[in-house]
Amino acid sequence: MSITPLMPVYPRCGFRPVRGEHCHLIGEDGRRYLDFASGIAVNILGHSHAGLIGAIQRQAETLMHVSNLYGSPQQEHLAQRLVDMTFADTVFFTNSGAEAVECAIKTARAYHQHVGHDHKFELITFRDAFHGRTLGTISASDQEKMHKGFLPLLPGFKYVEFGNLEAAKAAIGPNTAGFLVEPIQGEGGIKVPPVDFLPGLRALCDEHDLLLVLDEVQSGVARTGTFYAYEQFGIVPDILATAKGIGGGFPLGACIATEKAARGMVAGTHGSTYGGNPLAMAASEAVLDAVANEAFLEHVRDMGAKLTARLEQFIGNYPEIFEGVRGRGLLLGLKLKIEPRPFVAHLRDNHQLLTVSAGDKTMRVLPPLVIDESHIDEFMDRLSAGAASYKLPEAV
Ligand SMILES: *Cc1c(COP(=O)(O)O)cnc(C)c1O
Repeated sequence: MSITPLMPVYPRCGFRPVRGEHCHLIGEDGRRYLDFASGIAVNILGHSHAGLIGAIQRQAETLMHVSNLYGSPQQEHLAQRLVDMTFADTVFFTNSGAEAVECAIKTARAYHQHVGHDHKFELITFRDAFHGRTLGTISASDQEKMHKGFLPLLPGFKYVEFGNLEAAKAAIGPNTAGFLVEPIQGEGGIKVPPVDFLPGLRALCDEHDLLLVLDEVQSGVARTGTFYAYEQFGIVPDILATAKGIGGGFPLGACIATEKAARGMVAGTHGSTYGGNPLAMAASEAVLDAVANEAFLEHVRDMGAKLTARLEQFIGNYPEIFEGVRGRGLLLGLKLKIEPRPFVAHLRDNHQLLTVSAGDKTMRVLPPLVIDESHIDEFMDRLSAGAASYKLPEAV
């Protein structure tokens, strides 16, 4: 037998974290790493946050799981909070981002089928998007590396270039149900679209009775300095998928929608055994207690501006490595001139700095949202030492 007990789908690195302390992770070997990856934009309160721990402990002692066959005061309370803070009128809780996107896709199809427009089932999605790893969500992305071995894909998706409004408009046909889009592409390389792109998609949706479905699994929950990123683009969606930061490390996602867009999601149409269980609700309430207020959002914008300014000033010292800084708030990317993976590995293994590589030769910088200036200083020290010690691969 040569297969490992852990199905070998991840090319895991040698760092093996066993404990977290605020913005640092401690490895099996006792070494301390600065965590500017946050479990890929999940640990927005950092590690070992007292409020989050307390909420989970208290709820675990009270009631951990019940079926969605019963009334849920815990879900009703959190759903009301999300409704009050966003465009949405209604919420479905899931355990992950991909499930939240699946629910968003089903909600969009059900909207049209509810009124007998069964032919309007196709979502227009965008090149290099990432929506998750279920069959539905890989089908929503054009990335062939995620399709390989898993064909056939689910029908009903058409891919066009991200940020290209004309291409999006030209792709609309009789089968179009709407657009599914990340307001800022995450895995694709922290790509912020041109300012007229999202308002343009909104206008097309209004004109053709289509739905604007946003995937804010990575960009949501205060990451960009507003509660959701769409607020910065002067639009409201019809449906939105959220996850990652919303549980602060506890697995949770949600599909949120307007009353109109959710008109097909009636009793018996959708479900989840675990989705929205009391433990997840308690965790998310603690996360929102910390982040869903103007003072915290202002903190994220302030830290984002300071970190961006430091990076912009710094990257000119290494023009052979860095090309630019992009993103919003603390959803940041360094566009590199070199392959990001070996550089990210070098920072991790030789400078105890955790970041995440992404598409388009980009290195993601996703700190916990609770960083202060001392963490920015530490990050810049480690990054600067890492850039100075990096042996560029031989030019070919
Ligand atoms: C991470 C991510 C997902 C998938 O979330 P999972 O919890 O891994 O299923 C979907 N969309 C976007 C934009 C993401 O960043």
